[in-house]
Amino acid sequence: MRMDPFGRTRYSRNPRQRRRGISLRLIPIALFALFLAYYWFSNQEIVPMTERRQLVDLTREEETELGFQSYQQVLNQENVLHSGEVVDQVREIGLRLAKAAADVDPGFDWEFNVIDSEQANAFALPGGKVAVYTGILDVTKNQDGLSAVMGHEIAHAIARHGAERMAYQKLIQWGTMAISIAVGDMGYNTQRMVQGALGMGSKYGVLLPFSRSHESEADYMGLIIAARACYDPREAPKLWKRMGEHSKGQPQEFMSTHPSHETRIQLLNEWMPEALEIYKENCTNASF
Ligand SMILES: [Zn+2]
Repeated sequence: MRMDPFGRTRYSRNPRQRRRGISLRLIPIALFALFLAYYWFSNQEIVPMTERRQLVDLTREEETELGFQSYQQVLNQENVLHSGEVVDQVREIGLRLAKAAADVDPGFDWEFNVIDSEQANAFALPGGKVAVYTGILDVTKNQDGLSAVMGHEIAHAIARHGAERMAYQKLIQWGTMAISIAVGDMGYNTQRMVQGALGMGSKYGVLLPFSRSHESEADYMGLIIAARACYDPREAPKLWKRMGEHSKGQPQEFMSTHPSHETRIQLLNEWMPEALEIYKENCTNASF
């Protein structure tokens, strides 16, 4: 507290300035919160089979177009096999799985290709563009094993996981921008610290747990789709065990964003009674 020349009390202006600084700082954050609420509620979709609510802001056409473009890029760079036993088998399993999944999503123009490569990998892009790398066949071993991998990938596409991930990345980008504006008048080191914390927080707090929950959802849906298509669902836990062994000490192409294979196998076994019931009811080839 200070006195002016007339003996009246003069308060330091700092607290008021500070208050004003804080309220100005809140504006971009408040705007982001409003945008977040609007964006969230206007872009809700329901995942087939699991009934989970999800955030997706792309139309099916936009999503299909993006998937198609990326697919063409990958196929142009890789050694694609055009015919042969493996190609026939992958297409047959793929079509059978897609048909079994048709009642949950009829809108896809499925395409299945085989890439000649040592990588133990497979992927499905938005809109139903699937690729299987020949390197994964050593791990899948048989058609039930291959159907477990392909069912999982097909489930990612049906559940629109790619588009959902993009929506969250967009939100993180907007949030980071709002907070960067809010701390824009702070010192360089503070700004760096806040940005570093935001980066770590969004990676470990949002994106990684998020991709693990996508993995589990794809496991569940894949298991049910494979059983509907009359592939033996009991091969799925065995396949993921082999995958875990195969990926030990290797670059983790396929496993990096996936949950540990112990967790995955435990969950698959929990869902197994449901899958086996479908398998028994629908499939004359089911053997027990
Ligand atoms: Zn996956």
